[in-house]
Amino acid sequence: MPSRRWLFADQLGPHFLDDRHHPVLLIESKAVFRRRAFHRQKAHLVLSALRHRAAELGEQAVFLRAETYRQALRGVREPLEVCHPTSRAALDFVRGLDRVTVLPPRGFVTGLDEFADWADGRRGALRMEAFYRFAREHHRVLVDGDEPVGGRWSFDTENRQPPPKGADRLAVPPPPMPREDDIDAEVRADLDRWEREGIRFVGRDGPRRFPVTTREAQARLRHFLKHRLPSFGPYEDAMLADDPWLAHSLLSSSFNLGLLDPMAAIRAAEQAYRKQGAPLPSVEGFVRQVLGWRDFVWNLYWYFDSGYRRGNALAARQSVPAWFRDLDAEAVQARCLSGVLSDLREHGWVHHIPRLMVLGNYALQRGWRPAEMVDFFHRSFVDGYDWVMTVNVVGMSQYADLGRMSTKPYVAGGAYINRMSDYCGGCRYDPKTRLGEDACPFTAGYWSFLSRNRDRIPGNARLARAMAQLDRLGDVDQVRAQEGRRGAAPP
Ligand code: SF4
Repeated sequence: MPSRRWLFADQLGPHFLDDRHHPVLLIESKAVFRRRAFHRQKAHLVLSALRHRAAELGEQAVFLRAETYRQALRGVREPLEVCHPTSRAALDFVRGLDRVTVLPPRGFVTGLDEFADWADGRRGALRMEAFYRFAREHHRVLVDGDEPVGGRWSFDTENRQPPPKGADRLAVPPPPMPREDDIDAEVRADLDRWEREGIRFVGRDGPRRFPVTTREAQARLRHFLKHRLPSFGPYEDAMLADDPWLAHSLLSSSFNLGLLDPMAAIRAAEQAYRKQGAPLPSVEGFVRQVLGWRDFVWNLYWYFDSGYRRGNALAARQSVPAWFRDLDAEAVQARCLSGVLSDLREHGWVHHIPRLMVLGNYALQRGWRPAEMVDFFHRSFVDGYDWVMTVNVVGMSQYADLGRMSTKPYVAGGAYINRMSDYCGGCRYDPKTRLGEDACPFTAGYWSFLSRNRDRIPGNARLARAMAQLDRLGDVDQVRAQEGRRGAAPP
């Protein structure tokens, strides 16, 4: 008889067990929700997924509810094993316990040792593009012989289109939304009670929009591959004020809860190309997200040392203001930022471009503390976990590691948002203006950021043209003074 396997709440799929009869321990800890103000729908999703798994496993699982993991474990006498947890804090915790064997991680494609071998062999910065190519070759995904299918490793140039002109929605079938059941009703009642007891959440409660079981996640994957994938690639970077989902798969929370095996999803996408004729740029774009980006940030979380999370190379010292933390969209006049905060408040999710180029971009321009932004993204998103947000925010979004894993700061003015969305048309600001009443806060913030940080990011080839433009601006001191006066006030 194997040892009972303790599954954390982000290790819920069948691929975290060796066989169908493996004895399981599940623990629901209330203390997790006291530590930070999670989005209400994220709390719902995690609790619902854990309780659904307990119901699925029935007598195969011991399901304990307690204030803390430690309290719950006091009642467990038998030896336990656990797959490598997904945060440093949880790994330290399980390693410090008697009678618990820690197994290698599951739920990702490239192993920690494989990644370390790859990364150790590279000189200089680590780049997703190079890792992604390694992973494609190593795991033989979308390759024929030694060549990438279609003759190219990347179809990014086809995949960066603005939204179709004049459309306020993409013409794709909407994602199928899950149907709530008695377990969801019980979770909602518990969360209502916890709120009355003083546990704080942000965001709105709402119908559950993300899968909590492997079956629901697989149904969403099948629907995506059949109906939405063709439009995913070309419009994966587009934003529309009235269409937060566009053609995205809405599966990130399912991967991160451990409901879906990423390699199975990658193979299914590959089959959609090879057998069902799905367009290669879209399939490649999806594979890049799962096999490339997701595994890259997971492995970097462990490859970099524990101090990485405190990186602050651009000396960003401002606190994240309350209106932003609390998703107070009505306090904001800038249409893009208000719209994204509103979508996040309603759903606990927006796709990667509103995250990076609206929320992260705004914070980067204003010099908000990266560690607070990690916490914000971790709490506010249904798919947010320490491993995914630490590297994505410190490294990519806030450039606080000075380029250890990305080639340039993701900072942009209103021109980018205007090109990639329909937000600017109805906005009180003008994306072309950097000074005065109509000055777009993103455009002004862009020049202000470059001027403030030019000595901290010297010699970046990808910023060379922007820095040369900055030298030709005659009003940059006024722009910086204007942004200084705006301070932490909502734009
Ligand atoms: Fe956002 Fe500026 Fe466009 Fe307004 S004008 S929507 S603030 S980018």
